[in-house]
Amino acid sequence: MSDPSSATLTLHGTPVVPGVAYGPALVVRGEVSPDAIARFDGSAYDEDGALAAYDEAADAVAEGFARRADKASGAAAEVLTASAGLARDKGLRSAVRKHLKAGDDLLASVHAGVAQFVQVFSSMGGLMAERVTDLHDIERRVVAHVVGEAEPGVQMPDTPAVLVAEDLAPSDTATLDPRVVLALVTERGGPTSHTAIIARQLAIPCVVGTSGAMTLVAGTPLLVDGVAGTIESSPDPDEAERLVAADRVAREALATWTGPGETADGTRVKILANVADGESARAAASGPVEGVGLFRTELCFLNRVDEPSVEEQASIYGEVLAPFAGRYVVVRTLDAGSDKPVAFATHEGEENPALGVRGLRLSFDKPELLARQLDGIAAAARETGTETWVMAPMVATVAEATDFAAAVRGRGLKPGVMVEVPSAALLAHRMLEVVDFLSIGTNDLTQYTMAADRMASDLAHLTDAWQPAVLQLIAITAEAGKQAGKPVGVCGEAAADPLLACVLVGMGITSLSMASAAVRPVGARLASANMDHLEDAGEAALAASDPMAARDAARRVLGA
Ligand code: PEP
Ligand code: MG
Repeated sequence: MSDPSSATLTLHGTPVVPGVAYGPALVVRGEVSPDAIARFDGSAYDEDGALAAYDEAADAVAEGFARRADKASGAAAEVLTASAGLARDKGLRSAVRKHLKAGDDLLASVHAGVAQFVQVFSSMGGLMAERVTDLHDIERRVVAHVVGEAEPGVQMPDTPAVLVAEDLAPSDTATLDPRVVLALVTERGGPTSHTAIIARQLAIPCVVGTSGAMTLVAGTPLLVDGVAGTIESSPDPDEAERLVAADRVAREALATWTGPGETADGTRVKILANVADGESARAAASGPVEGVGLFRTELCFLNRVDEPSVEEQASIYGEVLAPFAGRYVVVRTLDAGSDKPVAFATHEGEENPALGVRGLRLSFDKPELLARQLDGIAAAARETGTETWVMAPMVATVAEATDFAAAVRGRGLKPGVMVEVPSAALLAHRMLEVVDFLSIGTNDLTQYTMAADRMASDLAHLTDAWQPAVLQLIAITAEAGKQAGKPVGVCGEAAADPLLACVLVGMGITSLSMASAAVRPVGARLASANMDHLEDAGEAALAASDPMAARDAARRVLGA
């Protein structure tokens, strides 16, 4: 019989983190094997025995999370500790017990108990709804213990491997170790998915939305190209090693890039950082960036029930401004609502929060909320002396931009707006008559242009900033900036993609703001091309008919 792992096969997905890797496939199955479930005999337990078996399994799952939390740090440790707490949750246990009492067997009771919690969390929306993935993760781990299987999900390999999964749960991505995970390949997920964001932070080559990924056989040697978005199984080993070595040399060259951002022939492009708080600002300030292009203020308040006073806000913002004295910081006013619920600002019970009262729209019926935030930002700017620009999210009309600009100028600060709604891109020239700069949020601009939820992992091909319609809107916005002689930057995930960054600059974008891990790869890539090549790459991408063709066209022009 032929060995299925030896046939050469090439799969295609959406490339999200550049880099070439070669190693055996570690295929992560998200679910407990159906055979083990079928073999399980629930009638072997009476009600008390079943509850005791549940307690033992839930405890083991919680301990597993806690052990991994001990080895992790920062956000990863928090995610894992929260999952441990949820696995031991008394309410969840009562829900399971209720179903056992009603005569359901153990597996059915676990499923029904979790389903009840899922429903409650989903109806709460926002961050609680995001915890639904954690609940499903807990269920499959508890079931695995009950039926006597190893917990599904990622177990870090002992030797380096390419991780292949349908998609990764937050608890899986929290403990990824770049020393043993050579690359990540997922069948679902898009460029703004959780997996993509974590892979970018860790600089692990990553391809998402790869159809057929789960048919790969464990142990098969894979060559992953995080630029082309290809996964070749059983490639020629010598050729694969050669490509990996060439990529290593290229990556080492990137690490030496020290800024400032400019093309090979000297056109300056500002390379900026995206930050969330004082800690990330201090880390970013030590890198070769000219400032902060996006300070997401709402992320400081996700756990706050009440609005902080102006003084407290000033001190929080000051933590971000202070490390950038002598440089500049673009502060974004609260983008509460939709995927970022802030208790004191978010409108409850909206049918469709992404199209509801979020971002600047919150100030329509609560103008004091925005006024107090602007007062806090102005106070922080005064105290730190850092040059401060302020922009509003989710702006849809020129009238909104006009009012916002007046409020910001009134406090001696420089006003701008984000271009996230197609109407703002189409009217960019008129927006620039009233504000001093624009910053394109490609994550939301893509979502609203393509009418595809940015969190929907089944719509990866649509939630891709390389879509021709999205590129067209970016080009319109950049052209308006050139005409007006005012800066137009990009601060969405698109700015962190080195190839797309080249295309954006070719269209006339003047600054790129990104996660710190992307700064050197993007800066080095820009430094390798002349401006006329970047312009050609921009035109070639615009003329392409789909995202893959646009990537290929840009690569052909730039010769890589
Ligand atoms: C964007 O939409 O691209 C953006 C930068 O804002 P956020 O991701 O915070 O919505
Ligand atoms: Mg946005």
